Amino acid sequence: MTASSSVERVRQWIDAAERVVALTGAGISTDSGIPDFRGPQGVWTRNPAAEKLSTIQNYLADAEVRKAAWRSRLDNPAWTAQPNRGHRALVELERRGKLHALVTQNIDELHQRAGNSPERVIEVHGTIRRTMCWRCGERRPMEETLARLRAGEEDPACLACGGILKSDTISFGQQLVPEVIDRAMRAAAEADLLLAIGSTLQVYPVAGAVPLAKQAGAKVVIVNAEPTAMDELADELLTGAIGELLPAVCVG
Ligand code: NAD
Repeated sequence: MTASSSVERVRQWIDAAERVVALTGAGISTDSGIPDFRGPQGVWTRNPAAEKLSTIQNYLADAEVRKAAWRSRLDNPAWTAQPNRGHRALVELERRGKLHALVTQNIDELHQRAGNSPERVIEVHGTIRRTMCWRCGERRPMEETLARLRAGEEDPACLACGGILKSDTISFGQQLVPEVIDRAMRAAAEADLLLAIGSTLQVYPVAGAVPLAKQAGAKVVIVNAEPTAMDELADELLTGAIGELLPAVCVG
């Protein structure tokens, strides 16, 4: 458990900081009922085969993989999830004028729903609330395709060109959007304090934001219940529940 002296130290750093960059992973949304992938109860920890199914190559090659993906999108907990105390603590950080950018690996849009300004949120892995066509690139609200699934379609094609549709998220094997990841890295390099929250910090290139910020002079604070791949870089580790620790350090 994190000592109260660590919490107090990070509070003071945040009070003194002017450009906090938060980097969030799936762990900030588990209290909202959206499971993470690699935590102790994670989707892939419990079912390692699921990781293979989520590659873009399998998705494009196999209609059965796409049908399974659409069934799981239809049931995705993100549709009913509500932001939690961790998300709200980052809204408070923005209200205090301290949040330079919020870089998220999450695809659930809970930061925007909690009240962070969309222009501050950099979604490096996209959003599940839109579809994109693999052939023509058209992006549409996900709800339209969910309605087609509920009406009985199993592998809905793009209505504009007939191409393969997917959620507008980055699958394994798929390239990140260069402008988006560049923007995230620039923001990290401008930070005076980087808060890495609820990420195993194993997914690159976004995990590279942590050493980048550190080299550029930022203090690094890692908030997680479990060890991460970058704990040795941290100036302070806050070990425990995000929903308790983040409000304790962010709320002025
Ligand atoms: P991850 O699943 O690899 O790691 C989550 C981390 O958060 C783990 O270290 C876990 O121990 C920790 N954690 C979970 N709940 C916590 C809590 N309440 N308090 C403290 N720590 C907690 O997540 P990742 O590194 O973000 O990588 C998974 C990828 O999958 C992401 O890049 C993302 O694109 C995607 N994903 C997104 C969502 C979402 O949008 N909510 C959910 C699952 C996966």
